[in-house]
Amino acid sequence: MTEIRQGGCLCGAVRYEADWPPMMVATCSCKNCQKQAGSALSILAVLPQSGLRVTGELTTYNDIAKSGNTVYRKFCGSCGSPVITETPEAQAQGMIFIKAGSLDQAEDLKPTVHFWTSTAQHWVVFPEGGKQLDTQ
Ligand SMILES: [Zn+2]
Ligand SMILES: [Zn+2]
Repeated sequence: MTEIRQGGCLCGAVRYEADWPPMMVATCSCKNCQKQAGSALSILAVLPQSGLRVTGELTTYNDIAKSGNTVYRKFCGSCGSPVITETPEAQAQGMIFIKAGSLDQAEDLKPTVHFWTSTAQHWVVFPEGGKQLDTQ
């Protein structure tokens, strides 16, 4: 059954509700995600666009990934929290990514795919059974 999860940025100016569970939860250890998150990796929940309702204003940074693809990194302009990521390919497929650390309840997330393990920080241990990809 579909439940609804709430989330938002640190200051609360941006809030969202997401139909749950998502299609997939993944981590990304690419250098750009590390830079943007100021952390070891991004946690991404993949949702259909229709499964996400956002209130408040997001600022967009048009990033270029190592692959050359454009990545729209959307964050709260007040507190700087990364909230949403979109790519032209995902948009064409009707999908959108939330930075899952912004969920109010994130304790039970189970990432099953791990992107860009080739640039992961060496102390990060990925869980057994997950799919690990050197790149994307
Ligand atoms: Zn904020
Ligand atoms: Zn990344």
